[in-house]
Amino acid sequence: MSKKTALIAIVFLCLPQLLLAQLAGFRNNYTYVGNRQSKLLHLTYYHHLPDDYLRENHQTLDGALRAGYRKCPICFPEHPMVPGYDFERQMGISCAAVLNFYYPVTASDEVVERVRKAGKRILDNWPLPLKGYNYNFSVVESDMFKAFSCPTGFIYFTTGLLGILESEEELEIVLAHEISHIERRHAFKQYQARFSTPRLTRDALVVSKELDEMARSLILVGYEEDDEEEADFYAQAYSFSRYKEDRGTLVLLLNKLRDISWQESRTGGGLFSGKSDFELRIREISNAQLHLFPRNQFFVSRNENGTTTARAQLILQKLERETLTLITTFKSNEMIPLGSRGTGLLKLRTSDRVHLLPQKEVTFLRKHPADDEKGFHTYIMTFEAMGQIEMFGLDLRDVQEISFEKQLGLRETRKIISFTR
Ligand SMILES: [Zn+2]
Ligand SMILES: [Zn+2]
Repeated sequence: MSKKTALIAIVFLCLPQLLLAQLAGFRNNYTYVGNRQSKLLHLTYYHHLPDDYLRENHQTLDGALRAGYRKCPICFPEHPMVPGYDFERQMGISCAAVLNFYYPVTASDEVVERVRKAGKRILDNWPLPLKGYNYNFSVVESDMFKAFSCPTGFIYFTTGLLGILESEEELEIVLAHEISHIERRHAFKQYQARFSTPRLTRDALVVSKELDEMARSLILVGYEEDDEEEADFYAQAYSFSRYKEDRGTLVLLLNKLRDISWQESRTGGGLFSGKSDFELRIREISNAQLHLFPRNQFFVSRNENGTTTARAQLILQKLERETLTLITTFKSNEMIPLGSRGTGLLKLRTSDRVHLLPQKEVTFLRKHPADDEKGFHTYIMTFEAMGQIEMFGLDLRDVQEISFEKQLGLRETRKIISFTR
């Protein structure tokens, strides 16, 4: 088998100006500014602060809230800070509207409650940091066996599907699969791939037509096959982290889908996407091995004073046909200067050797200062390489150093940040 070229994806961490302004804000000793009259609390680096005579400065958020202020929705948005969120939200709303058009929401409260509780359980136990979408679980009346996910957090089950789920695990796996589509922003990425011109420069009517088409296609046709496989992988990872069981339930579910696929035409979105090749998906799941690293074991990076400035955590490994995938998180109070674009390598030193894994993808998550006043930024980074089989199931006690290097030339790298115990 030919070796995959080790040069991987270009990373674009396009942070909007506002985010950059906010990052800069962390370095200054920023304060909260209250408006005595309206009682709204703002952040200093925005442009809509009250007149001087109305201002009351606060050093901490808690102090300001105790003094009777409430958070300004502009300064403290309640949605994830991901690029293109507003448009993604609009996609989600359009998709939910199409769904509500085809399927009446008339299921009993009891049924909806069961799904919501399971949804909450999954979100509470998600193996990776969540982006912060506001999830909404609904059940619609239909004898079809379907589950749908619309961008930014709308998840729908049909009563028909609930009728064939025989355990809470089965329910959870379907939910985990749908949550993965949302967390991985599959619909948004699909839209970007299909309509590549920046939408802001185009005719508004054309954009709205695309949005409609996209919403209908998500409901009637479903996600791309690759996205289905990725959603299966995260469902598998969830199941593994929660039940130490990584494929049985998922395979059982896919077999149920396979057994009813004869009655589906080539249309139909959701888990039972008419496009899906269930046998292939079952094969993929059966071939993949997972390894989950223990939680709460961090590697840290310190400055010259010995203060921790960043933390790294290995989350999970997947081995599939000699390709090893490693998912990690880095939390840093500085922007890791892989910021703009480039390719990186993860260098992982154990007692007897050094493993090198090329970077595949970076997701940048930023907690709002309201949630995390220390202003740590989280990067979820995925690395992937062929021929690193012996690295699978690595014992963390054996890891001495983890470092992230930037690829400068074919053989030249520069260390960006390194972590030890
Ligand atoms: Zn404000
Ligand atoms: Zn799916």
